Amino acid sequence: MILVLIDHDRGEIDPLSLRALTAARNLGQNVEAVAIGSEGNALAAIVGEYGATVLHVATHSAITDYTPMASGRALKDLVEKLKPAAVLAAGTPRGNEQLAHLSAFLDIPMAAECSEITLGSPHQVLRARWAGNLIESALVHSDLLVASILSFSIEAQATGGAPANVVTFEPSLHPEDSIVRILSRDSGESKGGITLNDAKVIVSGGRGVGGADGFGNLEELATLLGGTVGCSRVVTSSGWRPHAEQVGQTGTKVAPDLYIAAGISGAMQHIAGMKNSKTIVVINTDPEAPILRYADYAIIGDLHQIIPALTSAIRQAKG
Ligand SMILES: Cc1cc2nc3c(=O)[nH]c(=O)nc-3n(C[C@H](O)[C@H](O)[C@H](O)COP(=O)(O)OP(=O)(O)OC[C@H]3O[C@@H](n4cnc5c(N)ncnc54)[C@H](O)[C@@H]3O)c2cc1C
Repeated sequence: MILVLIDHDRGEIDPLSLRALTAARNLGQNVEAVAIGSEGNALAAIVGEYGATVLHVATHSAITDYTPMASGRALKDLVEKLKPAAVLAAGTPRGNEQLAHLSAFLDIPMAAECSEITLGSPHQVLRARWAGNLIESALVHSDLLVASILSFSIEAQATGGAPANVVTFEPSLHPEDSIVRILSRDSGESKGGITLNDAKVIVSGGRGVGGADGFGNLEELATLLGGTVGCSRVVTSSGWRPHAEQVGQTGTKVAPDLYIAAGISGAMQHIAGMKNSKTIVVINTDPEAPILRYADYAIIGDLHQIIPALTSAIRQAKG
């Protein structure tokens, strides 16, 4: 049996977990899911639809919101009881963090960001290193494979299965397991105090920005225009920007006066979040990028040259 940790935020599933369920199914064994926290109960239908027959839900008074060490301890309890062949999760920051705690408690290795898995002795994985610039073929020497699935390396495929049977359990937590926990959440405001929801101008960056540092130019342009920075999901999944800035189906849906999409290809999940913008300006090196269909204005070229040039031209125009 393959056990899949479902990444959810207070009951809202991260869709990458559906890909992890699909990856688990591809290993040819029965798939069960586990969600940490009582809000996980709400996920029985969706995990069933993607092939999990059982949804284990860890509940405990110390599990409030996101408590990664407690998750690791709960997973350890479940693993010792169910003895799965592998524990998988989406390669999200939370998925990786919770699996890392599990592996530490079990004192076994964890393979992060895997795009291919072959169970065996040892297990064999292909995994992304250095933000995907290197694909590593690795052997994992442990009976239990603990691995996260590289984001977007596999499409989620529904089986149309029935809702999973929910089995709740109370893990035996230690007092220190809730040392790391969420005390409060900020409102997602940018540095200038403007949220995506109320911004009239959004300068949004995608994978084409190339990394967290590249967003400095976008921030400068956004500030000059009295707006804020947005981004695509690749950017938040890569940890370049916070989730509060993600535009799209699983981010924020926006409709500003001006939406500048730089280095964003135009996946439907991104378009779903910004197509109602009044004016859309696209900056992309690829003249065939799908987002061009939605552009009022397009600049074909390298955003690293175009954005500073725009900033300087606007500065000059403003005197
Ligand atoms: C259930 C689900 C929900 C999702 N929700 C969201 C969501 O809310 N928001 C979201 O954005 N995505 C979402 N996605 C992901 C979505 O499918 C895409 O993977 C994502 O939007 C792609 O991001 P991107 O355009 O930044 O990257 P890519 O698709 O890799 O595009 C990068 C673009 O940058 C261009 N580029 C590269 N270098 C440069 C350069 N130097 N200058 C200019 N252009 C350059 C390339 O030509 C390319 O067009 C979701 C996916 C799923 C399955």
